[in-house]
Amino acid sequence: MAFKQRVFSGVQPTGNLHLGNYLGAIQRFAELQKSYDCIYCVVDLHAITTWQDPAELPGAIREVTAAYLACGIDAKKHIVFNQSQVAEHAEFAWVFNCVARVGWLNRMTQFKEKASKDRENASVGLYSYPTLMAADILVYRATHVPVGEDQKQHVELARDIAQKFNNDFGASIRAHGHGEAFFPQPEPLIQGPATRVMSLRDGTKKMSKSEPSDQSRINLTDDADQIALKIRRAKTDPEPLPHEENGLANRPEAENLLGIYAALAGTTKPEVLKQFGGAQFSAFKAKLIDLLIAKLLPINAEMRRLVGDPAYIDQVLADGAARAQLLAAETMKAVKDIVGFVHR
Ligand code: ATP
Ligand code: MG
Repeated sequence: MAFKQRVFSGVQPTGNLHLGNYLGAIQRFAELQKSYDCIYCVVDLHAITTWQDPAELPGAIREVTAAYLACGIDAKKHIVFNQSQVAEHAEFAWVFNCVARVGWLNRMTQFKEKASKDRENASVGLYSYPTLMAADILVYRATHVPVGEDQKQHVELARDIAQKFNNDFGASIRAHGHGEAFFPQPEPLIQGPATRVMSLRDGTKKMSKSEPSDQSRINLTDDADQIALKIRRAKTDPEPLPHEENGLANRPEAENLLGIYAALAGTTKPEVLKQFGGAQFSAFKAKLIDLLIAKLLPINAEMRRLVGDPAYIDQVLADGAARAQLLAAETMKAVKDIVGFVHR
């Protein structure tokens, strides 16, 4: 069966939006608007899987929204909202908790990393995070999910959940006139030279909002001086840049900076190496700083302007939530019939 093509993705309002979120996610969200109907969510239900200060959460939600808009997402043509305003996400996640298997969730690396040694004390929500993410995607029967490399495993789990639901409820799906499959197999879109931006201090660790060291990341709110200082201090190795991509093997910091440059310039790593092969890092870093400043400062300024008008942001979210809910409610109603719930 052919499903209507639709993009869904989200960003958590957990503070400190960074270059990885921009290159791996938000910049790509903006590009996809040309080819798809898109739904972009501020996933606040996901955020509270780890502790969020209630005094700070509203500001963080508005900041992610502002970043979406400042990066060129059109909230009128597409849909922008925060997850907790559409109750179907959580309702649907429950159904998927009953479809997904404990063994599947036990394989999820994000839980292992985030819960780390204190697993007994991690929230149940952190453990079941991927079933909520499957609900986010599938409540809109989305077909494409742009994410960074770190979220690939979760999108694959959403595919497994969709498939198991389609199989387990196959007879009921057919009986209710939905054909052979109710859910599409959502496809992760993980493309370009910066699908996994690494920490500036350690090229083997992902750049992350929750990393305590601010020096490890470029924040979307950093000013020109902060950007320049962080890049100048970014870890590198003593060799000059190679001429070919295979010369980046076992040089994670070099590869990371190259990937950032390529993604910002809208080109590829081999192209960047054609220009900088043989150069010292100091020369390359100076150009990278210029590029970062040229790209990020206008976004930074627009984000600040938007955050200064919370009433406007809240209106964008309310409008998006109302439109998202119409779609979600339709899916939820069909799912209730398929599962066999009696409903109004
Ligand atoms: P947290 O540490 O709270 O999980 P995060 O930085 O991982 O924060 P998320 O809100 O979890 O941010 O992820 C939002 C999107 O950004 C996802 O699509 C994720 O894959 C992408 N993303 C996150 N970090 C990176 C990174 N370092 N490089 C590329 N994409 C990234
Ligand atoms: Mg994350």
